[in-house]
Amino acid sequence: GRALLPLSNLQGTIDAFATAKNREIEILQQNETFRREFIGDISHELKTPIFAAQGYIHTLLDGAVDDLSVRDKFLKRAAKSLGNLEKLVQDLITLNQMESGMVKFHMTEFDLKETVHEVLEQLEDKANRRNVRMQFQAQANGNFRTFADRDKIFRVVQNLVSNAIKYNKEEGKVTVQLKAGKNRLRLKVRDEGKGIPPEDLKRIFERFYRVDKSRSKEQGGTGLGLAIVKHILEGHKSKISVSSAVGEGSVFSFDLPLQTKAEGSKPKN
Ligand code: ADP
Repeated sequence: GRALLPLSNLQGTIDAFATAKNREIEILQQNETFRREFIGDISHELKTPIFAAQGYIHTLLDGAVDDLSVRDKFLKRAAKSLGNLEKLVQDLITLNQMESGMVKFHMTEFDLKETVHEVLEQLEDKANRRNVRMQFQAQANGNFRTFADRDKIFRVVQNLVSNAIKYNKEEGKVTVQLKAGKNRLRLKVRDEGKGIPPEDLKRIFERFYRVDKSRSKEQGGTGLGLAIVKHILEGHKSKISVSSAVGEGSVFSFDLPLQTKAEGSKPKN
């Protein structure tokens, strides 16, 4: 009887070890699958703008270059495709850096209301081209200071507002609302587009996941914007929320800490 005890203990240890090893192998296999899928997705996404640019250039070489109006149009389209390709590669680099934890966050104190204003100014032409009206709601003399990585938050707001414009209905409205609570700021971006079906809602933050493929591509979307948004907010210990009603529109929102004077910010005067 006595000899059995250590033996069964040993068996237990071996079992536990085997389970841990199996788990490790499982994780490695999952990583490998993920890697393979990722490379498959990327190759597919890269092909689209390359083929398009190539198509225009070959048509020009085959003689279309002699027709001045066609030449201009095709050169512009080829340039646009290459622009999309550049954007895609840049987004891939950003996402890759984020996922490998290589990105540093440069935290500073700044006024989120000013940042939102800058984004809206930058996107005004894009909105006008689609006849979309943008409205910004924030209390006139409120404190909207926060502590975060300003450039990255700019990017988050830019992505959300840009999506609200491109997935809006013609002559729709984008409402950006900034509110200060006791300890937190909340930014909401609302559109009047066709909304996102419930089954797609949880997947739109995955890389290259698109509900509306043609709209996304036609508007130069890379399918990586929301994945980047999610990563940036996670880096701030925050998260992105979305609610949407098909046929009515969508609301994306996130929180950042509210920086009050008492919380160690230097008094200014
Ligand atoms: P994309 O470059 O395609 O816009 P995103 O990652 O920003 O990529 O968004 C992923 C997908 O989520 C989009 O392709 C679109 O189908 C959907 N989506 C994002 N924002 C909105 C919105 N405001 N209204 C409707 N659909 C949206």
